[in-house]
Amino acid sequence: MVRAYQYASGVPSARTTVKRHPERGAYARDVIDAVLDEALVCHVGFALDEQPFVIPTIHARDGDVLYIHGSPGSRMLRNLRDGIDACVTVTLLDGLVLARSVYNHSMNYRSVVVVGRAREVTAPDEKLRAMRCVVEHVVPGRWDEARQPSETEIKATTILAVSLAEASAKIRTGPPVDDEGDLDLPVWAGVIPLALRSADPLPDCGVTAAPPRYATNYERRRA
Ligand SMILES: Cc1cc2nc3c(=O)[nH]c(=O)nc-3n(C[C@H](O)[C@H](O)[C@H](O)COP(=O)(O)OP(=O)(O)OC[C@H]3O[C@@H](n4cnc5c(N)ncnc54)[C@H](O)[C@@H]3O)c2cc1C
Repeated sequence: MVRAYQYASGVPSARTTVKRHPERGAYARDVIDAVLDEALVCHVGFALDEQPFVIPTIHARDGDVLYIHGSPGSRMLRNLRDGIDACVTVTLLDGLVLARSVYNHSMNYRSVVVVGRAREVTAPDEKLRAMRCVVEHVVPGRWDEARQPSETEIKATTILAVSLAEASAKIRTGPPVDDEGDLDLPVWAGVIPLALRSADPLPDCGVTAAPPRYATNYERRRA
């Protein structure tokens, strides 16, 4: 198995080289980081007894690692911390690409694939930093305002770190790519842009204070 990837150089490993539409592949860490940081959820793939599972969950990047967390009872986390191979994917959908032909329809997207093995975060300071990182990833500004986790809550949280040493991004942008012979067809073609948008915050029962700034006009960071 080839594991010779050097992320600083932006060179992919054998297993992270984008083969179909290689011009859409990107391996520079700033490109990969921007996608990971904007996305709210990832999907974690792993195989148990030859049965693949792909589980959606929250992630957060801190430097060169991606943290995932959850209950110590989680099958995903229990198995990943034992060091099995994992694949984490993240997808941002930017648009629906409508071509003149059915065949050439597509989507505009930015996605990332990370392959590697997870390590369990056990050092108390890194564990707390990772918990903060996850909260701040989802709602920047929230960690300092909410009650801090108790010892019991920290113990009841498993945190794994996956290195970003082997990762790829793939990005499609732009209009449909139609066949030359289809360009004069009387069929509308173009892009329907898509974006994640928040609505007005809904206060919980008993909350009378105005929502904090970070809850109003919530938006994801853009690359
Ligand atoms: C929203 C969306 C819709 C898509 N729709 C289709 C579709 O309908 N049909 C289709 O065939 N493909 C689709 N793709 C592209 C798909 O994700 C794969 O890139 C493609 O199927 C296979 O590429 P490959 O042969 O290079 O990958 P593989 O040989 O399967 O992968 C080799 C390596 O390339 C990298 N890689 C491959 N794909 C991606 C990716 N998307 N993002 C980051 N790294 C990647 C990974 O590191 C992977 O290990 C879609 C992607 C997205 C994000």
